[in-house]
Parts: sequence; structure tokens; C-alpha cells
Amino acid sequence: MIYFDNSATTKPYKEVVDLVAKISYEEFGNPASLHSFGMRAERILEQSRKQLAETLKADPEEIIFTSGGTESINMAIKGTAEAMKRSGKHILSTPIEHPAALESLKVLEEMGFTVEMLNVDDKGRIDPEELKRKIRKDTILVNIMMVNNETGVIQPVAEAAQIIKSVNPKTVFHVDAVQAYGKLPIDTRKLKADIISFSAHKIHGPRGVGMMYLRHGTKIRPILTGGGQEKQYRSGTVNVPGIAGFACAAVRKTSQMEEDNRTIRQVRERLIAELKSRMPDQIRINSPEDGLPGILSISFRSVKSEVILHALEQHEIYVSSGSACSSKKNSISHVIKALNIPAPWSDGTIRFSFCGENNEEEATACAQALQEILNTYALSK
Ligand code: PLP
Repeated sequence: MIYFDNSATTKPYKEVVDLVAKISYEEFGNPASLHSFGMRAERILEQSRKQLAETLKADPEEIIFTSGGTESINMAIKGTAEAMKRSGKHILSTPIEHPAALESLKVLEEMGFTVEMLNVDDKGRIDPEELKRKIRKDTILVNIMMVNNETGVIQPVAEAAQIIKSVNPKTVFHVDAVQAYGKLPIDTRKLKADIISFSAHKIHGPRGVGMMYLRHGTKIRPILTGGGQEKQYRSGTVNVPGIAGFACAAVRKTSQMEEDNRTIRQVRERLIAELKSRMPDQIRINSPEDGLPGILSISFRSVKSEVILHALEQHEIYVSSGSACSSKKNSISHVIKALNIPAPWSDGTIRFSFCGENNEEEATACAQALQEILNTYALSK
């Protein structure tokens, strides 16, 4: 089988699965317990926090564990709005954010906050000059993703942070780095964001585990209250095996990032070259050339993406139509809409997403399968 759906989720590394199983079975103490068994679990938790912080050049005290990207993003957006509502009600974001952000922003709008969307160009990129013009005295939050999950476009978040802090130092800047982590370098000493969201299952870690980087001095109000775990920011018994698995995956993924990116670039280039030679008039590449190599959005002329997706499945090739996170809805994704992709193309958008374990032969096999599928489809019409 060929798995080209790594932006939806990745296959966990074998050592991650082994570690999660071992800690689940042998170290089941609650890190909040006072006895030595609990303290052993706490040591694993704190060691994992330290390892994850190191990958971001952050202080371990700035790491808060969550149940994933969605929870981190909800907490960043809603928690900032709650903590800052006396300073203002203006929020800036982009129309191509993940639904975890867009839906959180919608809730805030219903509560009386003003959410203003920055424009994006035909590749989905924001204009830093527009951001500069739109930051106001009462702007409490700017929310921008680092890498878009449907097209791989990379936003200039480091530049955005500089702009935000120079125009209004009180404005909190949240970056959704779920698709960027382990694929692009993230150094919290250089990227001056206040809050950054991460997820383990996009980097061969376990599902249902995530973290939030919360810069010292940034105020947010917790969403989950209770036992006061994670320095009161996120109550609930901590998922020690999952977090240890996350740290294990993150250390490996960040240290082999360049090697993985080289492989991924070759796979992407092979797929593009094969498709261009086999069906030059039937494809439109939506992803920018300077986007994240691991995400490739291609539209196929006048064929519905579901038809292609299921036909590829018959060849044991797995991809996504648009984005798997907002999947299963039979409508054109908000990202494809924002990019103004014209009608004969927009319905047939497929996202191919790669990891370091893919290879060029898989790309050729995928192109060949696509050629067969489109030929069969043309004959049946
Ligand atoms: N943000 C982006 C950019 C994503 O791609 C995803 C998931 O695909 C999420 C957030 C949500 O992360 P999680 O699945 O860990 O909740």
C-alpha cells in the first residue's frame, strides 16, 4: 500500500508504540500521587517536557500538555480572549485557518468579539503590510497558522511577530504550528510568538496528545478546570505514556528533519514530473513551489475528488480530498474557496502528503494509477 495522507495523520514510529506500551503497562502511577510510584511517572513526564522544550529552544516551564492540536488552539484563542477582554475585543486571523481556529473564532464573535480576516493571495499567503495596517490599540489577538494543512503554504510568521510586537506589544500572537513541527525549524528565541500549538500524531507520535508553548508572561484563562494539573492551565490526569511517546517521536523527527525533507522533496518532484508528462492538460498545481514539500494539492479537471480518492483506494493508494481534518463533508473546502480556484478544477482537488518513509517509486506508481483512473473515467463519460 502507498500512504500519501501524512498530513491527516502519520504511522507512529515503532519505538514510539513500544515506549507507549511499556510506560502504560509498567509506569501506570499518577504523576500527581505523592508515593514513589507516582513520582516515577512524574519524572517521565518532566523528562519528556524537557526533551520537547529542547526541540523548540524553550524553557520546559513554557510547555503545557494537551489532548492535541485542536485543544491547544481552542485554549490559545478562547483562553486569550477571556484573559484579555478588558483590553479590547479586536482579533485578526486568516480565512484559511484550520477549523479548530475558525470555529473558536466564531464562538468569540457570538460573544461580542470582532474578528477581522486578513486577505490572502492566490497561494493563500498573507501580506505583512496589511497586517501592520490592521493592528489596532484594541487588538488583543492575532492568530495565524505557520503551514496550511491543505496546500502547504508557509506564512511569514516570524515577520508577522516582529510587526505585531512593534505596533502593539500587548497583542498576543498565536501560531498554529501543527503542520510545521518537525518539518521546519522552530526556535522560540527567534519566532517571537506568545503561544504556539502542536500535535503529536502529525510527526509519527501517538494520537490524542499535543502541547502548547506559552511564553513566560503570557496570560490565558484555562478552559478545562479541575485538579489544577499543568500549572492550573489544563486540569485532568496527565497522559504520561502518550506524552513520553510524543517526546520520543519529536526528538527523532526533529533530528532527522533535513534527511526526511530531502526524501520528501524527491517524492514530490517525481510525482509532479510524472503527472506533467502523463496528463499535462488535466492537472493544476495549487501548492506554491516554496511551500512545505510534504503537502501537495493538485486539482484534476472535471473529475470529482471523491471519485479519484476511491479509485486510488482500489490501487491501495491513500490520499485526501481537500483536507481530512474537515473531511467527510461533501463541499468544497474553505481553503480552496479562498484561493479562488475556478470551477472545472475546484471539485477535483486532491491532497497528497508525504513523509520520510515514502519513496520515488511510490510516486511513479501513484501517477500511473491516476493516469489509468482518468482514462477510464474519460471513456465512461
Ligand atoms: N491545525 C492544523 C493545521 C491541522 O492540520 C490539524 C489537524 O489536521 C489541527 C490543527 C488539529 O490537530 P489535532 O488533530 O491534533 O486535533
